[in-house]
Amino acid sequence: MNVTHLVPDFLKVPLRRPYWAAIGLLYRSHLALQYRLPKVIAPHFCPVCGAGLRRFKVIAWGDTACVFCDSSERRRLAWSFLSRCTDLLDGRLKSMLHIAPERPFEVALSKLLGAGYVSADLLKPNVRVRVDITHLPFPNDSFDVVLCSHVLEHVQDDLQAMQEFTRVLKLRGWALIMVPHFPEIGKTFEDPSVTDPAERLKLFGQEDHVRVYGEDFVSRLENAGFEVRVMRSADFLSQKDITRFNITHLSGDIFLCTKRG
Ligand SMILES: [Zn+2]
Repeated sequence: MNVTHLVPDFLKVPLRRPYWAAIGLLYRSHLALQYRLPKVIAPHFCPVCGAGLRRFKVIAWGDTACVFCDSSERRRLAWSFLSRCTDLLDGRLKSMLHIAPERPFEVALSKLLGAGYVSADLLKPNVRVRVDITHLPFPNDSFDVVLCSHVLEHVQDDLQAMQEFTRVLKLRGWALIMVPHFPEIGKTFEDPSVTDPAERLKLFGQEDHVRVYGEDFVSRLENAGFEVRVMRSADFLSQKDITRFNITHLSGDIFLCTKRG
């Protein structure tokens, strides 16, 4: 949040840098006092940044986030999966396409993979490549890993985007895909004629969503050329860790997709 407009002009000129540095330090100290605890006694733990926590902060829709790295439930689930169930963090994989990169992941992965790490987005500044994911500007078989979380529900032609992911993945590559997923509604609900943000909010739950994925999400991925495994927190985390990381049904599922050979 930019609050510089709240600061009187007479303070901005002579005290700009030290002033903001002091505010930052005070804010971080306040957060630490309010939320941080030594890991050995903390009831909660953020698997993304490694902070021991008294509690997570409640954010929108009852979701919770780590105040130190801003990781929501789905990010904590995804990072736990990447670190425990894949060889991505071993540094043996060489190339990764990360769509709409989550900041804490981006920092760690770009350090690990160097030039092999490609962050990409249609709108976000500071990504390596500006892309439309339905037309990726990469040759076939370019990446070991594609990571794309909570993006496809914004894309009109999601089949084309999924096909692009299969195309740019190497034969033994894999994609971690997450979306808001509601199997209980039955078939995926979409209506391309709905373009009004208020109507989208009413029908799809967010002003820039174009559908609500239902039970057929896996078959949509399969139609794009993937073999799919659905991974839930209990498949790879102990109940103790699920509680410590505060992961609930709000985190959703992980769709682990491999290119059909
Ligand atoms: Zn964290």
